[in-house]
Amino acid sequence: MMDTTPLFTITYGLYVVGSRSGDKLNGQISNTVFQVTADPVKVAVSISKAEFTHELISRTGKCCIGVLSEEADMTFIGNFGFKSGRDVDKFAAIPYTLAPSGCPMPEANILAYIDLEICNSIDVDTHTVFIGEVTDCGITGEGTPMTYSYYQEVLRGKTPPTAPSYKPASQDVESEQERKEESAMKKYVCNICGYVYDPEKGDPDGGIEPGTAFEDIPDDWVCPVCGVGKGQFSEK
Ligand code: FE
Repeated sequence: MMDTTPLFTITYGLYVVGSRSGDKLNGQISNTVFQVTADPVKVAVSISKAEFTHELISRTGKCCIGVLSEEADMTFIGNFGFKSGRDVDKFAAIPYTLAPSGCPMPEANILAYIDLEICNSIDVDTHTVFIGEVTDCGITGEGTPMTYSYYQEVLRGKTPPTAPSYKPASQDVESEQERKEESAMKKYVCNICGYVYDPEKGDPDGGIEPGTAFEDIPDDWVCPVCGVGKGQFSEK
C-alpha cells in the first residue's frame, strides 16, 4: 500500500460550511475550501456525498463558507464536525445570523463569511467538488484564521472518516510525547471524535468534578464534543 504521509504536508484552513433547505439549517466543518478564480471570483469546496450538507447544497445550489477563528474550541468544532444534521439541529444552541444567501453562519468564532452560488460541480468518487461564484462576502470578526495543523496540533483534533484528508488509524502516527503522557489515572479517548477525557480535569461542564476516574463517571454521561456514550471510549 502506498504511503500517503507526504500528503499530510499539504496545508489547509478550517471552515464552517452553512447550508439550508427551507426551514432546515445545517453546518459542517470542511478543510477543503479554496479560491479558484479571481474574475469572476469563484471558490471551491469539497463535500462528502454521505454528508447532509451535500444533500442541501445539491438541492439549493447555495452555501456559505465561514472562516473559523483560532478562538474556536473543540466543543464548538465538534458540534459541526462530528454530528450529522440528519440527526440533530446543529444550530439549536448556537447563536447565528443568516447570510444574504439565507444560509446560517455562527455569530461567534467566525472571522469572515463567503456566500456561494454553485455554478459547477465535479464528481470525485466519494466527494463532490462544488465550485461557486461568490455572491457576497464580509468580515465578521477579528483574529487569526484557524489552520488545519493548528486544529490537529494545538487542539488535538481528529479527522472524521468523511473528510477528504482522513487517514486510517494504521497511518495515524502518534507522537512520542503523546505516548509518554501518562498520569496516575488513565485517560480515555472518544473513538468517534478524538476527545480525550482527562481525569485530572474532569468535565466540569458535564457535571464531572476534576479528579474523577473514567470508571466513576455516571453511565448517562456523554462525550462533550460529539455526544456519544461512555461505551464509545477507549483507554488512551
Ligand atoms: Fe466524542
